[in-house]
Amino acid sequence: MKKIAVLTSGGDAPGMNAAVRAVVRMALHNGLEVMGVKRGYAGLISGELFKMDRSSVSDIIHRGGTILRTARCEEFRTEEGRKKAANILKAYGVDALVVIGGDGSFTGAKLLSKLGVKTIGLPGTIDNDLAYTDYTIGFDTALNTVVDAINKLRDTSTSHERVSVIEVMGRHCGDLALYAGIAGGAEAIVVPEKEFDRDELCKTILEGKTTGKMHNLVMLAEGVGGAEELAKYIEEVTGLETRATILGHIQRGGSPSVFDVVLSSKMGARAVELLLEGKTSRVVGIKDNQIMDEDIDEALAMERKFDDKLYEIATALSY
Ligand code: ADP
Repeated sequence: MKKIAVLTSGGDAPGMNAAVRAVVRMALHNGLEVMGVKRGYAGLISGELFKMDRSSVSDIIHRGGTILRTARCEEFRTEEGRKKAANILKAYGVDALVVIGGDGSFTGAKLLSKLGVKTIGLPGTIDNDLAYTDYTIGFDTALNTVVDAINKLRDTSTSHERVSVIEVMGRHCGDLALYAGIAGGAEAIVVPEKEFDRDELCKTILEGKTTGKMHNLVMLAEGVGGAEELAKYIEEVTGLETRATILGHIQRGGSPSVFDVVLSSKMGARAVELLLEGKTSRVVGIKDNQIMDEDIDEALAMERKFDDKLYEIATALSY
């Protein structure tokens, strides 16, 4: 192992920069050469590789986004595209590739490894939708952003005695809605993993009104969708003024939280250690507060478990 490359791919997440920094610095610390790849798999196919040194990652630990940029790449979904990528890495003398991204990027890395490329994946996604790890890079920061928004919406919802429907990211995974819901004291949490009856929700909102509730916050995961429609329905049924807020891409931005920076640093360092130990086709995660790693095929095949207990607690505490 002499030379490694690193890229960020798919949806960006706060903490990706800290992860890139950790990979680069840990590699240099161990006498490896490092190349950065711009724009994910797209840049890999078009040969956008450049040599990185210590100063390439100076002053980025606290910055959101990714200095390597990120992209979605259709060509990489084809065997031909991946062969091109593998040949580029060979031409640059790269022995292994560290991919920072979500499940799509991991699937790409898995298929690339079948072509003989040594790969390690780091989970970079605000959705927290990877089953093998308790937390992904960016989830905690996004959560803090959402809770900050909830607190602001609560102020104005209370003033106007309104119902607020707040839609957050998470296509197949309701973790952002669940954790933000519990941290923001939401009255209801609507996620793709749980059955939801909107008439039951309206009934609960009206009951809350009789006990003196000044506002109602409903967390809605993107995967369930239809914030505007739900708000309209609640208003029609309850007669209470209801507003929908779709938080959108602000959830992806901003400086990473301390938790995410520490997590990124630990995971980035572990990725390099794994390669030095001769391990490959693995993804790094955190389980029970311990950094761990898992075979990439097995990690992708795992089914994500929703935290039912936390959902029950959130429901019990909301009224
Ligand atoms: P994320 O990594 O955040 O889940 P995407 O699902 O958009 O984001 O995946 C990022 C990129 O990974 C895609 O643009 C594509 O290049 C590659 N990728 C995703 N799924 C596959 C697949 N099934 N086969 C090959 N490459 C894939």
